[in-house]
Amino acid sequence: AKQDGRDGYRFYEESMGESFKRVLTVQQGLQEAMTQDQLFLHFQPKFSDGGRRLTGAEALIRWNHPRLGAIMPAEFIPVAERSGQIIDIGYWVTRTVCRHLKRWDAQGREPLRIAINLSPQQLHHPNVVPRMLEICQQEDVAPSRIMFEITETVAMHDAELSSRVIHAFHAHGFNIAIDDFGTGYSSLAYLQQFRVQQLKIDRFFTQGLDTHGEEGRNIVAAIVALAHSMNMEVVAEGVETDTQLDTLHDLECDQVQGYLLERPMPADKFEAFLDQSAQQ
Ligand code: C2E
Ligand code: CA
Ligand code: CA
Ligand code: CA
Repeated sequence: AKQDGRDGYRFYEESMGESFKRVLTVQQGLQEAMTQDQLFLHFQPKFSDGGRRLTGAEALIRWNHPRLGAIMPAEFIPVAERSGQIIDIGYWVTRTVCRHLKRWDAQGREPLRIAINLSPQQLHHPNVVPRMLEICQQEDVAPSRIMFEITETVAMHDAELSSRVIHAFHAHGFNIAIDDFGTGYSSLAYLQQFRVQQLKIDRFFTQGLDTHGEEGRNIVAAIVALAHSMNMEVVAEGVETDTQLDTLHDLECDQVQGYLLERPMPADKFEAFLDQSAQQ
């Protein structure tokens, strides 16, 4: 019987496949990742004036696993969302952003606004607003320095609840952006009710400026017009070509972000980038 059990176990383990084992490793590893300084942030600048003026940056989480090396958020964020670890990771991200902001202020730099991505579970987690506020107060950073990016799908899922949370964030001075706009289904009534500061056009539409000709251009023009009619700034993400950049400028898109301008970079490189842009 014992022999059977062992064989049964081995069979189970083999049939789980490599990908499932990796998910388990990732989930178990995440616990240590936070306590053992394996997580860190990259920053990707956002620009206005066709890429000439720096307006802020988006914080993007990175994980350096001691054995597996670099693991990207597209792999571990979904695992953390399912396990609930995203809640603690999210607060860690906000605290870490605050500490970076504090250091850059102390270095006498122009005050920047940093965007932080929020997962569905985070937005709808009880007390998310007071917890974020508490972190800002503990770290002595004004909430107006932070912009939370919420994907369109998340905002529209349970839109009543999202609306209440967004209003509570606003009441304390936090800014909100709707991320990946155009890929989900938006209710225009809710979009108007949210009164967010920014709309981020999904990379798919930015690419469409190259690949979908007149039609691609018209779609982006419509999103820009929609955003401006509601007094929101529009940011195009994933800008990779000069054609995209020029067209976005023609279409009066307010801000751009993408590999063509700057890639996400670690804090020390971001500081060097800030030094360089301050000299210009
Ligand atoms: P996102 O919020 O839509 O972020 C944009 C992603 O596109 C980032 O990938 C960024 O590195 C990448 N990107 C930027 N410019 C370009 C470009 O020109 N071309 C292309 N092809 N890609 C570009 P990343 O850093 O791997 O993040 C993936 C996703 O993981 C993010 O998508 C976001 O949903 C999530 N994420 C990242 N950091 C966090 C975090 O701290 N908390 C939460 N909850 N989610 C995060
Ligand atoms: Ca984002
Ligand atoms: Ca996005
Ligand atoms: Ca995205």
